[in-house]
Amino acid sequence: MTAIYDRVAYIGLGLIASSMIHAGRRAGLQRMIVGTARSAETRAIAREDGLCDLVTETAAEAVADADLVVLCVPVGAMAAVAEEIGPHLKPGCTLSDVGSVKRAVIEAVRPHLPDGVHFIPAHPLAGTEHSGPRSGFAELFDNRYTLVVPDGAVDADALDRLTRFWEGMGAHVEVMEPEHHDLVLMVTSHAPHLIAYTMVGVADDLRRVTDSEVIKYSAAGFRDFTRIAASDPTMWRDVFLNNREATMEILGRFIEELMRLQRAIRKGDGDLLFDYFTRTRAIRRSIIEAGQDTAAPDFGRGGRPGQRTGESGEGETT
Ligand code: NAP
Repeated sequence: MTAIYDRVAYIGLGLIASSMIHAGRRAGLQRMIVGTARSAETRAIAREDGLCDLVTETAAEAVADADLVVLCVPVGAMAAVAEEIGPHLKPGCTLSDVGSVKRAVIEAVRPHLPDGVHFIPAHPLAGTEHSGPRSGFAELFDNRYTLVVPDGAVDADALDRLTRFWEGMGAHVEVMEPEHHDLVLMVTSHAPHLIAYTMVGVADDLRRVTDSEVIKYSAAGFRDFTRIAASDPTMWRDVFLNNREATMEILGRFIEELMRLQRAIRKGDGDLLFDYFTRTRAIRRSIIEAGQDTAAPDFGRGGRPGQRTGESGEGETT
C-alpha cells in the first residue's frame, strides 16, 4: 500500500499507540513515525526497541511538521497535551485521538487548536487489559471497528485519509456523532467494566470466602470479570469522570434490571428468569455471528494477550 501520510506523530506510546505503529508499519501507511511519551522510561524503551523512527523529548517537538498527530494519552490528559502542541501544529494537518469518550475530549482539545487544523476524533474498539509501549501488536485492530467521531462538518479529504489510515490498519470504520458514541460505548464497554470492577471488589470483600478459594475455584464468569477488572486504573477513572451523564443513565437502568431479577429470584419466578436468560443468550449469538468474538471458551488466555478482547479491554477496550 502507498503511504497515506508522510509523517505521523504519536503523543503517548502505550498499548494503542504501539499497536497503531506496528499495524501502520505492516501496511506501510506512513513514511516516518515520530513519538513521545511523558516518562523518560517509556521514551527510552521506545528508542531501544526502535518503535518510532524518531523519539522526541516533548510533544511540541513531536508534532512539528507532522501530517497526522494522534493523541494516545488518557482522556484526562488530553487538554494539557492539546495546550502544549496547539501552537506547533502544522497548518493543514489532521489531529486525531483514540480516547474512549468523545464529547469530553472534544471540549478539552478544541479550544487549543489553531485555525486550519482538521480535528477528527476517533476511537478504536479494540484493546486489552495490558498497557505500555511493549503491549502493542499489529493485529489488534484487525476486523474490529474504529469509530470516527467528527464534531460537525470536517474536511472531506482529511476524513477520507484518516478513514483509509484506519482501514489500512485492519479496522472497519464507521462515522458516529459524539453524544451517540458516548452512550453506545457506555452500554457496550464502560458499564460492563464498572460491573466487573464491582464484582471483583465484592469477592475481595467477602471474607467468608478466602482469597485462595477465589483464585483456586474461579469459574469462567469470575475469571472473565477479573481480566476486565485488571484494566488500567488511570484510563478507567478518566472514562467514568468524563462520561458521567451516560454512566448515570445506564447505571440507573442496570440497577432497575438487577432489582427485577432479584424480585423474580425471591418470588421463585423461574419463567421470568428463563425468558430473560434466553433473550440475553441470543445477543451473545449475534455478536459471534457478526465476527466480533469467537465461541471458543478460552477466557482470554489463549493466543496473544487480549487478542480476542474488544475495547471493553476497553480491557477491551473502551
Ligand atoms: P497506556 O498503555 O497506559 O499508555 C498511555 C500513554 O499515555 C503512555 O505513553 C503514558 O506515558 C501517557 N500518559 C499517561 N498519563 C499522561 C499524562 N498525564 N500526560 C501525558 N501523557 C500521559 O494507555 P492506552 O491503553 O494506550 O490508552 C491510551 C488512550 O486510548 C486512552 O485515552 C484510552 O481511553 C484509549 N483507549 C484505550 C483502549 C484500551 O483497551 N486500552 C482501547 C481504546 C481506546 P508514560 O508511559 O510515560 O507513563
